[in-house]
Amino acid sequence: MSAQIIDGKAIAQKVRGEVTQNVAEFVARLGRPPGLDVVLVGENQASVVYTRNKEKTATEAGMRSRLHKLPESTSEAELLDLVRQLNADPNVDGILVQLPLPKHIREDRVLETIDPSKDVDGFHALNSGLLMSGRPALVPCTPLGCMRLLKECGTDLKGARAVVVGRSNIVGKPMALLLLAEHATVTIAHSRTKDLPAVCREADVLVAAVGKAKMLGADHVKPGAVVIDVGINRTDDGKLCGDVDFDAAKEKASWITPVPGGVGPMTIACLMYNTLLAAERRLTSA
Ligand code: NDP
Repeated sequence: MSAQIIDGKAIAQKVRGEVTQNVAEFVARLGRPPGLDVVLVGENQASVVYTRNKEKTATEAGMRSRLHKLPESTSEAELLDLVRQLNADPNVDGILVQLPLPKHIREDRVLETIDPSKDVDGFHALNSGLLMSGRPALVPCTPLGCMRLLKECGTDLKGARAVVVGRSNIVGKPMALLLLAEHATVTIAHSRTKDLPAVCREADVLVAAVGKAKMLGADHVKPGAVVIDVGINRTDDGKLCGDVDFDAAKEKASWITPVPGGVGPMTIACLMYNTLLAAERRLTSA
């Protein structure tokens, strides 16, 4: 049996359509669009593309969006100054500082300076803490997107066994917490996990967030499992691939995300969702 494909591109389009419609209602109600400010320090090629796409996608959704491009030589103090200005600006609802930052700038320092109510990446410790305690938070976009993909393919998470491979603060840990909040029984696996294939084979829902090309194969997939592949890797011939060996895993899974066209497009769609949410919360609590 071959798995059904979870079409992240189509679902992301649907999310963006919903956001666009809600932005129009927001403008009609509150007289201004939600505002997203994206900050890029330096010329990292991937970051240049990502930030341009974020700015463009926000504009397409009817938001006000602005890209602040700073030189590689920007000091930590200068960057913190800009973040504080954006914190104080009432027309700014979302602030995103693109990572990675140049080595001379402490990422933690910058992320912790962003006003948590404008932290649309969901990386501030306050938002992580709120997520952990099951309270309303701004949730990191990639795991949020994965949850929407699971919902769209009708996965029943209540009581399901979920295994998340990877324990980063931006993907693995928040993903595990979101699954737990939906009543899954969750295991987090990582580089020290013993007998990873056996752990993964227990999963009704398997989420791969490792960063190693095609590391999880048929041996890691329980028949009928739903497989979400967060990984973005390049093979030796320059092609994009995930952490899951798609061709092998799809013969055992019931549903599976492709790479590209799975989780990737959801991340930016969920950034739009978070920006609108941040704007709604700020303006309605003011
Ligand atoms: P990190 O490098 O921060 O974390 C990787 C995790 O994988 C770590 O917890 C690490 O364990 C674990 N790991 C590494 N090797 C193994 C192994 N052999 N067996 C089991 N676990 C292992 O990565 P990120 O979480 O930031 O990203 C993961 C992947 O997702 C990357 O490919 C990244 O490009 C992609 N990504 C995709 C996004 C999208 O929009 N689609 C957004 C963000 C990330 P340990 O903690 O023990 O070192």
